[in-house]
Amino acid sequence: MPTGSADGRALQLGQLPEAVAGVLARLGDAGHQAALVGGSLRDLLRGSAPGDWDVATSAPPEQVAALFPGATWENPFGTVTVRATPGPVSVEVTTFRVEAGYRDQRRPDEVRWGGSLEEDLSRRDFTINAIGWIPEDLRSRRGLLVDPYDGAADLQRGVLRAVGDPDQRFSEDALRILRAVRFATRFGLELDPATEDALRRHAAAAGTLSGERVRDELLRILGADQVQAPPSRAFAMMERLGLLVVVLPELQAMRGVPQAKARPGDALDHSLRTADALPAGDPYLRLFGLLHDLGKASTLGDGHFIGHEVVGAQMVEAILRRLHVPRVEVARGRLLVRHHMFAYAGEWTDAAVRRFIRRVGASSLADLFALRRADDVASGVEEPQSGGLDELRARVGVELATSPLSAGQLAVRGDDLINELGVRPGPIVGRLLAELLEAVLENPALNERDALLALAHASLARGPEATTGGAGTHRPARSRP
Ligand code: ATP
Ligand code: MG
Repeated sequence: MPTGSADGRALQLGQLPEAVAGVLARLGDAGHQAALVGGSLRDLLRGSAPGDWDVATSAPPEQVAALFPGATWENPFGTVTVRATPGPVSVEVTTFRVEAGYRDQRRPDEVRWGGSLEEDLSRRDFTINAIGWIPEDLRSRRGLLVDPYDGAADLQRGVLRAVGDPDQRFSEDALRILRAVRFATRFGLELDPATEDALRRHAAAAGTLSGERVRDELLRILGADQVQAPPSRAFAMMERLGLLVVVLPELQAMRGVPQAKARPGDALDHSLRTADALPAGDPYLRLFGLLHDLGKASTLGDGHFIGHEVVGAQMVEAILRRLHVPRVEVARGRLLVRHHMFAYAGEWTDAAVRRFIRRVGASSLADLFALRRADDVASGVEEPQSGGLDELRARVGVELATSPLSAGQLAVRGDDLINELGVRPGPIVGRLLAELLEAVLENPALNERDALLALAHASLARGPEATTGGAGTHRPARSRP
């Protein structure tokens, strides 16, 4: 039940942009109630710049859409997205909601509008998100703060508290369990004790959420600021609440897996540190850092984790699919985990560097180096001055700039093999080209038309077995030199 000031306390919102004030004004001029609500108001009260703007109104969605030409209205929850100017600024205008029935802990069965601002606030998740601001004079940005659950005070005290009965809140929508972790860590808030108890009781319900909703929430958690809210803090909180074992059981299984590293802790501590050491601007890369060592839980033996990168790559692929991660990110994650154990040494020949580039793929090298750097930081490893990552990066740069590294860069094409050597079009052409590329990776000086035609001719003369084994037949050992 409401405890705070529902009647409203005067507040001037000097930071409210012209575009958002314009949306509130147009709704008001048309005779509707309209209030700034949600995350944008919370952020303004914290003194930070909101990412998106939320407005709640008494106007039904059709009327909102009619007031703002070009507005889009895509979802069944009555949210109309307005592109307001100057800016343009995106403003989400949502009709006051009254919801009934949450049978499956995932989505309301039914959404009705026609309620009041107070009713609308009462169905929001946390007190800090359940505050409204009703404009009185938009030109001077003066208005009234409607704060029935004392969210502004919680924000000041640094407390995250569910609106009303926390058990009811979390059983209505299990996503709020993950949102609690995100808000608490992002804003450095303590969990209110009753809210925390309810989170523990409801943690298992997070297992009923769709992969997409979990994915989006995890990405937001992972995209939080490095210093203020490193991912390790959120995942430690998830573990403490019994939530990690529900959402990412494979990661929880790393707890207690011993590690012999300069920095203390087990494989889970190491994973969390690795995520922290990756850039917030690339949440997927942070996710891959978090998951890069998963294979260790099942490959521990004699203090080594033989083949953990192979097992780990399969595990990561399964998790990413479960989270409905886009296919390109699944491929990216699998590849990075698969290759994260490369062991560069100064003795590598230039050909070994070229084979490394081929193996990993030129476009994945920057990611792989970033992951290794983070892995080093998390392990307390100093890269050596020579024979280290920087040296490999420099040598890779030279090879990429100067050496042929793909079939497309060969001095002959398939047509040349067909016209000059009488090869029949078909798979054999590709196999010959692959063989020529292997030779050129070994010795770039061979990348010259006559030399390559001679090589191909010799290969054909050796007989079909020379080219039927596929690209691998003449490939030098793939292992490290
Ligand atoms: P962010 O800064 O990440 O945008 P936000 O608080 O604005 O955080 P949104 O998902 O944009 O979060 O939602 C806007 C507002 O809608 C929230 O502040 C909250 O009041 C309400 N809300 C969103 N999702 C839920 C939910 N699952 N249950 C209850 N209220 C919710
Ligand atoms: Mg928002």
